[in-house]
Amino acid sequence: MHIQEKGSSPEPVRLFRINTGSCNGCDVELAVTSAVTEFDVEQLGCRYTESAQEADVVLITGPVTVRARDEVMRLCAETPRDKVTVAVGVCPVSGGVFRDSYAVDGPLERHLSVDVNVPGCPPRPQALLAGIREALAIREARRAGAEPSRTPDQGKRPAADNFPARGRLSFDASACVDCRMCRHVCAAGAIRFEEGDSGVRLTLWHNSCVFCGLCCHYCPTGALSVTGEWRLDHPTADGFRQVERGEVPYTPCSGCGESVIPVPAQLLHAAFRRPTPEIEKLNTLCPACRQLMSIGVPRR
Ligand code: SF4
Ligand code: SF4
Repeated sequence: MHIQEKGSSPEPVRLFRINTGSCNGCDVELAVTSAVTEFDVEQLGCRYTESAQEADVVLITGPVTVRARDEVMRLCAETPRDKVTVAVGVCPVSGGVFRDSYAVDGPLERHLSVDVNVPGCPPRPQALLAGIREALAIREARRAGAEPSRTPDQGKRPAADNFPARGRLSFDASACVDCRMCRHVCAAGAIRFEEGDSGVRLTLWHNSCVFCGLCCHYCPTGALSVTGEWRLDHPTADGFRQVERGEVPYTPCSGCGESVIPVPAQLLHAAFRRPTPEIEKLNTLCPACRQLMSIGVPRR
């Protein structure tokens, strides 16, 4: 996509903001895109407008609250039909931590067509600019009657920076013991486990994750970690690809052959310093065989 240089276009693309009931976290980050030169939307050939009627791109923050819903829809109806709509932050994308609240009627997609999702809680200014670039690419393609092409850096994971927070989560299946503490503490409901034939699969939805880091804090093995990779914007249709996945494989119990997930060696060493052969043997058994072995009953 061609990005217009600042000052080279007499007709800037107009951005219009709607807050559907957000905590203002995303709105503060959006303010950065007009107040801080490094992140100014003018570098993309855009400017903010106060008029819904002249919106080229509509940026929507916040969960759709029941109270604000009708007013939001009325305002959206005033915007041009060919505008591009961007959901900013996990609240409009999925409902975030408010998804099950009686006061929220979301996600935004339930009410209107959304073109780009920029998940995050809140997304960094860099992520917002990336999402707006995505919206501009879609707008250009629509005007040319073509399919939107991917923006140059889309799909490329930026290197983690020196601020390891507010970024994509990473999962190391080789360190996971399937305790599921991460799912228990995740208020956003971003983590799911499924039992398959060969192991237990973890799926973490970046469209719901609020980067709170609680799962990492409570994970006993460090299998989950927050990275500084902030680039998560994507066309709405790609939403189900914004996940972190991994499978924790089963191994057969050395006693009865039942599927079991042994404790990783590094955790055994952390817990026992020098695990005895007996402890290592216990680690290869399923819970039932472990009980029998510990009370001295021979396994069948
Ligand atoms: S990722 Fe960590 S907290 Fe979650 S199931 Fe695995 S070991 Fe437990
Ligand atoms: S950081 Fe972990 S606990 Fe927090 S929302 Fe994301 S997946 Fe859930």
